[in-house]
Amino acid sequence: MSTSATFTRPVGHLGFSLDGKVVLPDDQRFDGARRAWNLAVDQRPAAIIFPESATAVAAAIGYAAERGLRVAAQGTGHNAGPLGPLADTVLLRTDRMRGIRIDPQARTARAEAGVVWLDVVQAAAQHGLAALAGSSPDVGVTGYTLGGGLSFLGRKYGLAANNVLAAEMVTADGRWVRADAKHESDLFWALRGGGGSFGVVTALEFRLFPVTQGCAGALWYPIERAPEVLHAWAELTRGQVPDELTTIGRLLNFPPIQQIPEPVRGQSFVIVEAYHTGDPARADALLAPLRALGPVNDTITTVPMPAFSHLHMDPEQPVPGTGGGMMIDASLTPVPELVTPVTAQIQAVKAALAPWAARQMYLNFAEAQHPEAPFWTDHAYQRLRQIKANVDPGDIIRSNHPIPPADR
Ligand SMILES: Cc1cc2nc3c(=O)[nH]c(=O)nc-3n(C[C@H](O)[C@H](O)[C@H](O)COP(=O)(O)OP(=O)(O)OC[C@H]3O[C@@H](n4cnc5c(N)ncnc54)[C@H](O)[C@@H]3O)c2cc1C
Repeated sequence: MSTSATFTRPVGHLGFSLDGKVVLPDDQRFDGARRAWNLAVDQRPAAIIFPESATAVAAAIGYAAERGLRVAAQGTGHNAGPLGPLADTVLLRTDRMRGIRIDPQARTARAEAGVVWLDVVQAAAQHGLAALAGSSPDVGVTGYTLGGGLSFLGRKYGLAANNVLAAEMVTADGRWVRADAKHESDLFWALRGGGGSFGVVTALEFRLFPVTQGCAGALWYPIERAPEVLHAWAELTRGQVPDELTTIGRLLNFPPIQQIPEPVRGQSFVIVEAYHTGDPARADALLAPLRALGPVNDTITTVPMPAFSHLHMDPEQPVPGTGGGMMIDASLTPVPELVTPVTAQIQAVKAALAPWAARQMYLNFAEAQHPEAPFWTDHAYQRLRQIKANVDPGDIIRSNHPIPPADR
């Protein structure tokens, strides 16, 4: 991609045909097409379009504008819950835009809008490089990165959003824009943590890192030992922990369903996960107090980087679920009857942690609507609203965590 010419231009979508690419509610493909990764979300948009290029994205935006409809971009639907009713909205499903380019010398990747993390992780590993992927192999690179992007390598290398080098997008008025450190600086700032309100991103370019393997896995204990294990874990995090080590304390209740492996099905555990990319002896020394507590299972071992994508045991196919913020991840709700009790449990944990809650929430882990926009400082939010007003004054592009245009 040339970076020297004009950085904003109309894509020229008027001659582009969307024939066969628009799925309307009376189409037999509609139910399959509207399905989000989170199967608990029953989204019913006015139309669904599967663009395969930036030109098709611009044509899809034009299609919506001609009909007075709004546009919502969706990669996987991992965070479709907060979108709300879509009766006035064209859903742009980007999952056919799957091109990846790795530049091993520059240590960068370019991923089109529909790429999921495992694709990048595997492509990068072929060149001895690692990406700032999250815990789940099939989360979309674009939604994750626009919302921040918290990786197991994040303590050392920062958020995925802060390692973006360029973003290509189509704006609400059909312009193709490439935003980077030298061009479209407001948009470049807004896209890195502001979410999907500013246009439909068609590709991202970002940094990769020279990491080929790490020491990772989990220490498992019976749930009854949660207080002592979590206190020992908290003690570890209070010490001199190198940036190469990320740990996670979790309470896991495995539902008694067939999809869960028999040894843990229907059981509850407290576990401490560890992901370390430095000297293994250092990890062993840091984890020694936790190992001294006698875990019933210790899976921490040296693995190649792509294995990191599976160790957190996130479901790797669409599932129904509900989740809550304050860094508390989703619990599965495999049947609708579980939504109420699981939501109640999430609320109970949040209430117990309330004394330590930060004012700010993390956008990617917010699976409900938050009109009060607790993801940004007041100053940042006002700047985001101003940028939204400049680029999309009619509020055509809607995000799961929307930013309304500033009043003129
Ligand atoms: C099982 C699981 C594991 C997770 N693990 C992590 C983790 O380790 N670290 C972390 O930080 N987060 C994690 N998350 C949260 C995840 O980052 C968010 O759910 C994120 O929004 C998912 O992005 P997506 O594109 O897959 O989802 P989508 O629901 O498709 O997209 C979410 C939003 O992103 C925006 N968006 C997506 N594509 C585009 C586009 N092309 N143009 C403009 N806007 C777009 C839209 O606003 C959209 O509503 C996890 C979530 C789940 C369910």
